[in-house]
Amino acid sequence: MLYDELVSEWLAYNLEHAVELNFLILLNAIDFAAIKHEGQYREGVLGTPYVIHPLGVVKSLWFEGGVREVSTLTAALLHDTLEDTQTTADEIEACFGYRVRSIVEELTDDSQLSSEEKKQKQVEHARHYSREARLIKLADRLYNIRDLKNLNPSERLACRSYLQWSLKLLNALRGTNAALEALLEAEILVQLAENH
Ligand code: ZN
Repeated sequence: MLYDELVSEWLAYNLEHAVELNFLILLNAIDFAAIKHEGQYREGVLGTPYVIHPLGVVKSLWFEGGVREVSTLTAALLHDTLEDTQTTADEIEACFGYRVRSIVEELTDDSQLSSEEKKQKQVEHARHYSREARLIKLADRLYNIRDLKNLNPSERLACRSYLQWSLKLLNALRGTNAALEALLEAEILVQLAENH
């Protein structure tokens, strides 16, 4: 009896504080990403601090994809830390748990591969990604394609192959999130039409 009462009290406490806990986890992940990407900037004419990118991916997941699951949003904030910073997978696990670690690992390209090989592997692997990794990949690519507008005109001309690879990636990710897929497809097609 006492045990049952304790369990129900604990469950009630968790329900009451879940929003607060999720907020703290996300705030920690924002702080972690901002520190890890410190001194890095996005390509393009604006000189945007790199951390604006993972923040934008999370915004897109939340507002455009309707994604609310905290492990997906946390992994989205960290999705480039293994690939582009000194962060280790163990560090992510220690701070955010095993699930977030494994999603970020799925999204990390093998640094030994050439950029063409990376694109090929991303398309091949996309079908086998977890649902969380597929959601993040869609929002990540949507952000990156929108961001091409900030390149200078000669760099943009070189992006045709990236746009074509993105269509292949999108096709491999279909069935994940209709809203994000439609936005990504429209953005790729508009830019392919402009870029020839
Ligand atoms: Zn990214």
